Amino acid sequence: MMLRTDAVKAVSVVTTGDGEVHHEHVFGTRKPELLWIFFGRRWVRLPINVYVIDHQDGLVLFDTGQDRAVVTDPDYYPDRITAFFYRHIFRDIRIGPEDTLPVQLERVGYSASQVRKAVISHLHSDHVGGITHIPEAELYAGEEGFAYMRGRDHPERQTVFRDRIEIPGARWHMIPFGPTHDPSLAPFSEAFDLMGDGSMIVLPTPGHLPGSVSMLVRRRAAPALLLVGDLTYDERLLDRDQVPAVGDADQLRRTYAKVRALRANNPGLVILSAHDPHAREKLSGRYGGDRPSDRPTSVTGRG
Ligand SMILES: [Zn+2]
Repeated sequence: MMLRTDAVKAVSVVTTGDGEVHHEHVFGTRKPELLWIFFGRRWVRLPINVYVIDHQDGLVLFDTGQDRAVVTDPDYYPDRITAFFYRHIFRDIRIGPEDTLPVQLERVGYSASQVRKAVISHLHSDHVGGITHIPEAELYAGEEGFAYMRGRDHPERQTVFRDRIEIPGARWHMIPFGPTHDPSLAPFSEAFDLMGDGSMIVLPTPGHLPGSVSMLVRRRAAPALLLVGDLTYDERLLDRDQVPAVGDADQLRRTYAKVRALRANNPGLVILSAHDPHAREKLSGRYGGDRPSDRPTSVTGRG
């Protein structure tokens, strides 16, 4: 595979607001799901990140964040039962007018109309919320995620809102994974080269929700980045083999092991989750994504 390592000009992170989830959600638990969802008392506030990759052939996003309608539109949820569940899973969601995807992209020097492609880590509502703002973009998601959404009677109960995903005109593509023999991608044997130059490689990382994917971003003179969506919320959990409470625990552990092996093959690999409060510091200085107007993704100090 040809690797054009100078093709990625900068990588930035923006955040489309934040919200609280149960401690168990992030750190895992042996308690039954309904018990911690309805009776868990410890909450963790997390940002909802979008990664912005400035590639010489156009702007690429990894995930698109949460739609502000969740806090402004009383009819955001498709039905009352879904709303009831959602409000026990996520609490105190804060998404101001300045937290929409277009405003956030402008803060780091881009515009939504520049976005050429968006890779969606999985179909949960806080990852697809910005797709209405990028109608021209090619959208990429795991085929198994779409099969899951279309095959269930109530995907909305798993916070997969079909009518906000299959929107008219959306240019969805199922990620066409194919075999790879690139030794630096081992132990992954399937991959999709998004730009055709080896700079952004999408990898299947199942476990959180069917069709979950990650993306490896490679750039000259900087360690590679692995954007993992909700596979984990913190790299330290990956090292401790501590899987979140959301998803298939056995499958998450198998994917964890593959990601640790990938990191061993790519010394210095930086792992960034979709809700990493320290993403900006991790990118700082090394990926050319710092702008004076960029604000921290850290949730501290926000009103
Ligand atoms: Zn998720």
